[in-house]
Amino acid sequence: MSNVSTPKLSRRGFCMCCAGLASAGLAGGWLSPREAFAEAHQLVGMIRGAAAKADITTHKLRGSVFVLEGSGGNIAVFAGKQGKVMIDAGITATRAKIEKALSAIGNQPVTYLVNTHWHFDHADGNEWVHAAGAKIVAHDNTKKRLMQTQRVEDWDFSFPPSPAGAIPSETFSTDQRVEYEGCRLNLVCYEAAHTDSDVGVHFTDQNILHTGDTYWNGIYPFIDYSTGGSIDGKIAACAKSLSMADDKTIVIPGHGAPVSNKSELKAFHDMLVSVRDKVAKLKKKGMSVGEVAAARPTAEFDKHWGQFVITPGLFAELVYEGV
Ligand SMILES: [Zn+2]
Repeated sequence: MSNVSTPKLSRRGFCMCCAGLASAGLAGGWLSPREAFAEAHQLVGMIRGAAAKADITTHKLRGSVFVLEGSGGNIAVFAGKQGKVMIDAGITATRAKIEKALSAIGNQPVTYLVNTHWHFDHADGNEWVHAAGAKIVAHDNTKKRLMQTQRVEDWDFSFPPSPAGAIPSETFSTDQRVEYEGCRLNLVCYEAAHTDSDVGVHFTDQNILHTGDTYWNGIYPFIDYSTGGSIDGKIAACAKSLSMADDKTIVIPGHGAPVSNKSELKAFHDMLVSVRDKVAKLKKKGMSVGEVAAARPTAEFDKHWGQFVITPGLFAELVYEGV
């Protein structure tokens, strides 16, 4: 385990995307937000330890669809008559609590697992869920990335290749209509956005959309440029999600309060567009990344969006990289 003190966990969970919490206390006031974000060198051990202590909260949505909150990214579960479908698998250290939450929903086995992208806090549990009998379905690039070492610069971490049991056996790179356990799903391929492996899952009969990490509810998002993400891709992904949603759609974000809706997703999209435009104008004037962050291009949004782990300064830097 880490010699870094374990950060306080919120009910939003703690995840790889959220490493800034841990590093904030190490920054000593002289590191840039981005350097501070990467400062905690034992992130994975620390996060696994935190996940082992995390509690899982189950929210019942509608039509036998639930969301489990507390182990990395938000996990959606459909309970069919014969089997369950999971969207994302969380962090392995929380396995026992996830299994308990799954049992409380019903005693069917998990037969399908869809990954929204390759990140650790969404796909770490792949191996045990597969061993328990589930087929893993994901974007082609999730499979590719899980099979090879992945360096994420902003986390200052290289992930080794995943074990064979964690690798998706069915992959795709265009939108798919499938039916698992009697549940009709649209598996939606976003253009590279948070990463280059992003998939949204639309439960068409229940009108529920899991966006993966293309949308974080009420908080500035992480953008993983190391594995193909970009601010423009994030904006395009949100526009695509909005086009699939109506006023009754329940939207499940990758992180943040797990039960959201179209108007909150629209506010997130509009915030991204506004910050992107402001940062692009400042960069065009020749300002450095530090100068742009210091100019506080996110100021009007910070009170609402800047209260979690991606700080206003870090978010400005992430946007700057992509404009
Ligand atoms: Zn992610």
